Amino acid sequence: MPSTVRIALNRPLRRLFDYLAPEGLALKPGQRVRVPFGYQQAVGLVVETDIEPPAGITLKPVQSAVENWPALPDETFQLLSWASDYYQHPLGECLFTALPAALRRGRSATEKSEDWWQAFGSSAVLPANAHKQKTLMDWIAQHKQGVKGSDIIKAGFTRPQLKALREKELVRAITPAKESTQSHRCDETIGGPELSAAQTEAASKLPLPTSGFSASLLYGITGSGKTEIYLHYLKQNLSARDQALVLVPEINLTPQTVARFQRYFGERILVWHSALNDSERLHAWLKIRNGEPVILIGTRSAVLLPFTALKTLIVDEEHDSSYKQGEGFRYSGRDVAVYRAHLNRCPVILGSATPSLESYHNALAGKYQLIRLEERAGEAKPPAVSLLDIRSRPLEGGLSRPALQAIQQTLDDGNQALVFVNRRGFAPVMMCFDCGHMVECPRCDTRLTYHRRDRAMRCHHCDYQAPATETCPKCKSEAFKPVGQGTEQTEDILAASFPDTPVVRVDRDSTQRKGSIQSILKQVNSGKPCILVGTQMLAKGHDFPNVTLVIVINADGGLFSVDFRAPEQLVQTLLQVSGRAGRGAKSGKVVVQTCHSDHPLLKSLCHGRYLDMADQLLEERESGQLPPFRAMAIFRAEADTMEQSLQVLDRIKPLANAPGVETWGPLPALIARRADRHRAQLIVNTDNRRRLNKLLTGICQTLEQEKFPKSTKWMIDVDPQETG
Ligand code: ADP
Ligand code: ZN
Ligand code: ZN
Repeated sequence: MPSTVRIALNRPLRRLFDYLAPEGLALKPGQRVRVPFGYQQAVGLVVETDIEPPAGITLKPVQSAVENWPALPDETFQLLSWASDYYQHPLGECLFTALPAALRRGRSATEKSEDWWQAFGSSAVLPANAHKQKTLMDWIAQHKQGVKGSDIIKAGFTRPQLKALREKELVRAITPAKESTQSHRCDETIGGPELSAAQTEAASKLPLPTSGFSASLLYGITGSGKTEIYLHYLKQNLSARDQALVLVPEINLTPQTVARFQRYFGERILVWHSALNDSERLHAWLKIRNGEPVILIGTRSAVLLPFTALKTLIVDEEHDSSYKQGEGFRYSGRDVAVYRAHLNRCPVILGSATPSLESYHNALAGKYQLIRLEERAGEAKPPAVSLLDIRSRPLEGGLSRPALQAIQQTLDDGNQALVFVNRRGFAPVMMCFDCGHMVECPRCDTRLTYHRRDRAMRCHHCDYQAPATETCPKCKSEAFKPVGQGTEQTEDILAASFPDTPVVRVDRDSTQRKGSIQSILKQVNSGKPCILVGTQMLAKGHDFPNVTLVIVINADGGLFSVDFRAPEQLVQTLLQVSGRAGRGAKSGKVVVQTCHSDHPLLKSLCHGRYLDMADQLLEERESGQLPPFRAMAIFRAEADTMEQSLQVLDRIKPLANAPGVETWGPLPALIARRADRHRAQLIVNTDNRRRLNKLLTGICQTLEQEKFPKSTKWMIDVDPQETG
């Protein structure tokens, strides 16, 4: 009797498919198979074997196994199954997220092997006019262990030149000594500074990789040397066979960071991020799946990779909102990392200068160990923060006179200044100063943002753009000008005020080209006086030793937002950006321009103790019955009309009617229309996470059976980062 297996397909369906397993084909959960699906063939992943066959249905057989080992090993499989349930995302799509694209399509899990070449004999036998061949021959001969064909091409030689040498039997194809990470000569690596007393103490509190599950929140102020602690910890405690994962936000995965890790661990370092191509992904995936003892530095999705010997997880800048995936499978890389450590019985270290309220709350509740590191490493001192009330002060490009003077002083002292434009909840818009008209996106309920460079107006929510007009489209007045300021306008004012100093803009637009952020960082790291101007991107993780002044143009955006996380994010951003000042031997100064200089949060900012602010914010969350005191999920709906969107949510609301569960809405979303789609949301808030999970599972199953108008889409976001 053939047994029955249950298979997950890479489809957005909340169901699995049963097939017969042909005799002699032993299948395991997590294994890739080929199955008939409709008139096609599909790649599936085995979820369960030997199940009770459904009565009265003739099942089709599995065609073949793609390989005889599970692509997703046990723990990874369990992790993804848990995440599918927790985030209410279809299992098939969750499981397939952990495979590189090539494997999702059913390609074999092997890499094209590289050709290797070694020189034999001497280039002296070549005719005198064969210059290129001679150079190539000498070049290959320099590499005693042989060289890869691809490296020969990269070095500027050609395949025909190589072929000519081969025909003369001056080079031969060889099987290379295995390119292995299994053993690393430690003398290749040089390490970094000794830990300070405070760092040593903090590091000594971190549980060892062998000591089972634990979660530690390493709260270390900016520049306190957390990264150095991770490096020492791994160097001292990770055995030669172990794997480790270091999660970082995308923007922090700079060559600087990778180089720092490589100095300690050489070739053992592997990276994983969105810019890898398919074959680089497959290469990294195979190393991890094969249990090679890599230390992987990766962004969010790295936490889903098929590690088999993972002994430590580190989540750097654990508060960073980019850890939460914003669409599809909306998981939090940080929270999945904690669960992974739990499954795997190993430590997870969450590091931040501005811990998320979730993690801090867990630390206060005793679930995580709180480790504090409240002094800066090396000679650096924390910066002095002051508020500058800008009510009724004239501004140029958003900058007040005292701010410009402070910049002048900084440059005169031979230092660098950073001007931070808080984009959140703020954008320059074209306004008519006669009739008050502002230009809106024709497809969304947002105002168009004015881009000075190319005199264009763009929507930041869809890709709509239009040329900026000289006069008001409504009343034809010429008093049609941008209000508020973006980075470009500030950049222009700075360039005009400081004509002899380079002004470097860092924002999403200026860093889109590959490598542009690197060249910007290079200029800054040269140490020569310059002014950096930019958005959120500047706030994150960078180490600029010569920046001694930070000006925050507009702190107020996040203070009065409808999004309950906005104040937390404001405080985190301001502290992070302040943390860019005075990281070297020179002390730093931060000036925050605001119209609300008596706001309690901004006042505590001057004292600089994040945990005091976090305590304040937690109190507000508790009295507002908000996460992390409650568990929250949002149903979002999108349709051609608002009525249709609200209809879906009206259908959900009574389903969520249960003891201890509150629903808020349905309401149109903050941006109620985006790219001509009408958006609404329903918030579900409860005091019990288990109950929430059960409730959501039930609701999703019901919704799956419903027939809604074709254009209507609904989705669920568990632990949402944004509630607007
Ligand atoms: P964090 O990750 O907390 O922001 P880093 O580890 O990047 O801090 O350290 C900040 C700066 O201080 C870096 O330039 C780093 O090289 C330096 N640093 C860290 N620890 C030490 C130490 N023990 N002695 C000297 N310099 C240190
Ligand atoms: Zn007008
Ligand atoms: Zn738009």
